[in-house]
Amino acid sequence: MEKSKDKLALYGGQPIRDSYLPYGRQWIDEADIKAVVDILKSDFITTGPTNFEFEQAIAEYVGAKYAVAFSSGTAALHAACSVAGVAENDEVITTPITFAASANSVLFMGGTPVFADIDPQTYNISPDAIEPLINSKTKVIITVDFTGQPAEYDAIMTLADKHGLIVIDDAAHALGASYNGKKIGSIADMTMFSFHPVKHITTGEGGIITTDNKKFYDRLISFRSHGITRDPSKIKGKTGPWYYEMQDLGVNYRMTDIQAALGLSQLKKLPAFLAKRKEYSRKYTKAFENSTEIVTPYQHHDSSSSWHLYILRMNGSSLKADRNEIFRALQKENVGVNVHYIPVYLHPYYQQLGYKKGLCPQAESLFKEIITVPLFPKMTDADVDDVIAAVKKVISYYAID
Ligand SMILES: *Cc1c(COP(=O)(O)O)cnc(C)c1O
Repeated sequence: MEKSKDKLALYGGQPIRDSYLPYGRQWIDEADIKAVVDILKSDFITTGPTNFEFEQAIAEYVGAKYAVAFSSGTAALHAACSVAGVAENDEVITTPITFAASANSVLFMGGTPVFADIDPQTYNISPDAIEPLINSKTKVIITVDFTGQPAEYDAIMTLADKHGLIVIDDAAHALGASYNGKKIGSIADMTMFSFHPVKHITTGEGGIITTDNKKFYDRLISFRSHGITRDPSKIKGKTGPWYYEMQDLGVNYRMTDIQAALGLSQLKKLPAFLAKRKEYSRKYTKAFENSTEIVTPYQHHDSSSSWHLYILRMNGSSLKADRNEIFRALQKENVGVNVHYIPVYLHPYYQQLGYKKGLCPQAESLFKEIITVPLFPKMTDADVDDVIAAVKKVISYYAID
């Protein structure tokens, strides 16, 4: 019997796509491969001149004075929390709608993450929710530019100034985004970017911190490499060509030159990658903005998103199925949907630390209704059309008429 195109694949119909479309993936070309191979044939394969070149290129791109590359975005966040001085009994305010690493970096230092609820429109941390949580223990605010849309930095930096707090921006989603005409990476005291393969550009694994603060820069360099220095101007003891000193407790979070070469080559394509993400996002918004069943992402007038993720919010009151069923139906149509994110404090590890359900009601209700659809530069127009067709097919099936 012929499989019907209208019948949901979940119930035995024919799926919209024959092959599975992931929600995100890298785009590596021949120039990237050559850049990596050139390094493999050179004298430096670990942290050498190409690392510094990559750091300079990222700093210049975002408009920051300094950049320090790390082995991952998570390592970079750990380093940022360390140089910000986060320690036991310190509180760090952050958002629950993020990847666990944003808050975990506080736990690595023995500090306490404090979750501020989100703005239901932008899905970013709400400045109004931050202020009442500030007390004498508060040391840092970790913002997240969720999906690539910058957090509200005018209000957040003003709050931080008023209370003497350091702002660390987890901008894993936001390379290329800007706020009030300023690039993300030049606003917070320290900004982290990730180069995981689903992010805007990749180094395999990798991350970076950008900053204008020379003290932070020096400490980040030290933390990344065992707290050891060979710089004669910083050495306290006897000097000699062989001499080095460990002055702080550090780790090995260095990025290799193999990765940095890939990053430099990828960075050349960033403007084209960003343009594709923007174009496909516009297409999605145009296709869904008049639907009563789904809410398209609101864009704040002050900000320009880098569109790392495209998230559809299900309007529960006009649908017969919940997010989980709609999610399953889209997966069966071979569309690689995802959920970003489970509010961090609902994870078992955080529950066992004593965080309670109900802490951030806006974040929890958002979580129940969101679906991330595929968005990456290597998608084709036909892929985008498939996603739109699959969402329309599934949503019209479950719509309450
Ligand atoms: C990807 C990501 C990280 C972690 O970066 P890695 O490079 O994978 O360690 C942290 N925060 C957010 C919001 C992310 O999306």
